[in-house]
Amino acid sequence: MTQPIAFDNSYTRLGPGFYTRTPPTPVTQPSLIAVNDGLARRLGIDPDWLRSPEGVAMIAGNKAPDGAEPIAQAYAGHQFGGLSPQLGDGRAVLLGEVVAPDGARFDIQLKGSGPTPFSRRGDGRAWLGPVLREYAVSEFMHAVGVPTTRALAAVTTGEVVLREAPLPGAVLTRVASSHIRVGTFEFFAIRGDVDRLRALADHVIARHYPEATSPMELLAGVVARQAETIAQWMALGFVHGVMNTDNMAISGETIDYGPCAFMDAYHPDTVFSSIDRHGRYAWSQQPPVAVWNLAQLASCLLPLMPDPEGAVPEATQIVHGFPAIYQAAWLNRFGAKLGLPAAGAEDQPLIERLLTMMAQQEADFTRTFRGLVTGTAAAEFVDPAPFHDWQRDWQARGPDLALAAQANPARIPRNHRIQQAIDAGVRGDFAPFHRLVEAVTHPFDERADWADLAASPEQGEEVRVTYCG
Ligand code: AMP
Ligand code: MG
Ligand code: MG
Repeated sequence: MTQPIAFDNSYTRLGPGFYTRTPPTPVTQPSLIAVNDGLARRLGIDPDWLRSPEGVAMIAGNKAPDGAEPIAQAYAGHQFGGLSPQLGDGRAVLLGEVVAPDGARFDIQLKGSGPTPFSRRGDGRAWLGPVLREYAVSEFMHAVGVPTTRALAAVTTGEVVLREAPLPGAVLTRVASSHIRVGTFEFFAIRGDVDRLRALADHVIARHYPEATSPMELLAGVVARQAETIAQWMALGFVHGVMNTDNMAISGETIDYGPCAFMDAYHPDTVFSSIDRHGRYAWSQQPPVAVWNLAQLASCLLPLMPDPEGAVPEATQIVHGFPAIYQAAWLNRFGAKLGLPAAGAEDQPLIERLLTMMAQQEADFTRTFRGLVTGTAAAEFVDPAPFHDWQRDWQARGPDLALAAQANPARIPRNHRIQQAIDAGVRGDFAPFHRLVEAVTHPFDERADWADLAASPEQGEEVRVTYCG
């Protein structure tokens, strides 16, 4: 079979300083876990080729395909508020970019493909757990319409990765509209490298924001897309877990699924990540943290303005535009969850009353909203009386249940189900993983045989802590 991928590596053409040329490190015994047929076709790649020996050699990092120019991208980042001037791809390489049949450009990246010059202490490898988690969660996010990186394939490596215990190694093939982050801008801004900063901004405008005619319009575009994306996270009970500036994509896509998880019982302070001790990235903190991150981006873009000092008020105003865009997106998303098209500020108290009740009674986030459609929401409350009061007021608004059905998934990749799929995968059984992916990529279908995946965790089943990888 001839290789069906025609690479066109525009990021590489930005030249030295943006990356190091770093081939993936071969693995001893690659074994395919999954190929995403739908995504392969969307990219114009024959999924059967990905399953062929050459395809597997590519996704394991054993043989770079023709036209690939593997690189590790340089970036910096604020991690938990502190600046790390030098991060970069430490366990990933970008193979190159493909242009899909419809003209859309995508990065193909291998995650877990071995050490790079940017690897810190670690080994540059990934173990199976984070690979399966990112695959299932990112494909669910795509299925419910959230801008996100995607999973094209996953392999085990036949090698062991040492964490607290020896664990099976794996590589994820990740697809993104690009992997350029807020931290990519920070990398050049903190070095005072205005030429590369400008080249990066021009590249990003051409690639992601062609309507923008200035760095400030680029900033406004990123602010708007991030506000929309984060409103969607909130409406799904999603906690990203590590919203460092190096994990915030300029494209507005959700990126870097590390210790991410979805809430079962609703509480706004929910945190899963073992390292997020102060709740900086708790569910309710995600919008203000996004503003903080976007302020970092704004600072980076100032040197590109003819009068950097004079541009501060405009940049500040653009970043401060986030709450209004976010609030409109939030009303739109939560309004749809209640079956209220064109929800306005007058609907906000109704939405918040429900959320407050849910938090007080630790109602299951996904099941309560889905239960509005199926008529089972009251069962999510220990004391259903306040819910029944609320329900009368809600029904008086004449909700459109077809709209609510499309906004409230029946299933999410629940944390304990992901954990069970990982545990089985470690034992060499990928059936639970495949079943989970199938179920969460058809999240709106009511299926009795998937009822276990829609259920809340039983006592003792709940997984409350997640790890970076
Ligand atoms: P992340 O937690 O994926 O956002 O990674 C933060 C930084 O640590 C990035 O520079 C990663 O490339 C690097 N890193 C994470 N895991 C590893 C690893 N296993 N080996 C080397 N570098 C890593
Ligand atoms: Mg990262
Ligand atoms: Mg990560």
